[in-house]
Amino acid sequence: MTTNKTYHPETLGLRAGTETTEFGENSEALFLNSSFKFKNSAQAAARFGGTEPGNIYSRFTNPTVTMFQNKLAALEGAEQCVATSSGMSAILACVMGLCSTGDHVVASRSVFGTSVQLFGNILKRWGLEVTFVSLTNPSEWQAAITPKTKLFFVETPSNPLTEVCDIQVLADIAHQANAYLVVDNCFCTPAIQKPLDLGADIIIHSATKYIDGQGRCLGGAVLGSKILMEPVYGFLRTAGVTMSAFNAWVFLKGLETLHIRMEAHARKALDLATWLEAQPQVARVYYPGLTSHPQHALAMKQQLSGGGIVSFEVQPKSGQTKQEAAWALIDSTELISITANLGDAKSTITHPATTTHSRITAEARLQAGISDNLVRIAVGLEHVDDLKADLRF
Ligand SMILES: *Cc1c(COP(=O)(O)O)cnc(C)c1O
Repeated sequence: MTTNKTYHPETLGLRAGTETTEFGENSEALFLNSSFKFKNSAQAAARFGGTEPGNIYSRFTNPTVTMFQNKLAALEGAEQCVATSSGMSAILACVMGLCSTGDHVVASRSVFGTSVQLFGNILKRWGLEVTFVSLTNPSEWQAAITPKTKLFFVETPSNPLTEVCDIQVLADIAHQANAYLVVDNCFCTPAIQKPLDLGADIIIHSATKYIDGQGRCLGGAVLGSKILMEPVYGFLRTAGVTMSAFNAWVFLKGLETLHIRMEAHARKALDLATWLEAQPQVARVYYPGLTSHPQHALAMKQQLSGGGIVSFEVQPKSGQTKQEAAWALIDSTELISITANLGDAKSTITHPATTTHSRITAEARLQAGISDNLVRIAVGLEHVDDLKADLRF
């Protein structure tokens, strides 16, 4: 089936992008081969010359990867998807494809820690100018614009505090400056939020997270218009940050169940967040689906649900430091996995201050609102009563 906008999203997750070989398989085939044969030299020349479409070499294109790209593009409502070897290489390919030395990127301060390193350290060494601003304050984005500004880069909701930005407002500011708004849609996935419909130009995914959904493979994707994706693909096929066919095959299976999984993650996360808010040992809960969330209304306008990530501050007991309170809770769990990953069917628990956000200074952490008693749970698919019972305050 080719993409058809009249189908509902869950149907697209199952049916879009799929192609069938002469064998008539009902599940997408895994093309675990590096190169493709030509009938003769003339066909080889035509493929290389671009006058005949078709596969050449799996660093460029591979049928299993193409099926994954077409399925994800249908779900995000994008013209084109470029699959990459990881979420980080998706961000790298996006910037390398669209920016040059001297160009300027405005990025949210509350993006994935490794994205901060990529922009602030590595790409900076190659002459990319980067300004970090507040995710939730559009006037800072406006003020950061220079004549060289090419990209705005955000994650919404943010990690770990689930802050939300108004995608349409930032897209308008970016477009007035002839810049593109890039949204890392990893936390929501298209099952919950469709940034292109809200005015964004480019979407980034770490497929490693909810798209896989069972913690198996690394992968990523960049999505947008054909014109914007052409140089991104050009970088990928030359630099080789290609998604493996095996991983694409796993992600194809993940996309089939994405909608039903995201509904379940969000339902369980809302239940857990509501319960946490009622616990005397919890000082504060961060979850966009709660009415107490400062941007609850905006989140519910942009998202179908609050998603699967819940963060909260543990109230220290007398004599306990904030970190001791958080660590005691995390270390007392028997069921929930202590790991920094998210988007797995198994629930995971993290102490951001000493793991994902340990590389930033204590002052910067405090400024970002990540206190030493903050705990993040990526709510999986276990029964929520078992999760509650596992949190021994
Ligand atoms: C994990 C993650 C990434 C990086 O993805 P990898 O697949 O680990 O390279 C980027 N953005 C967000 C929001 C993430 O959670």
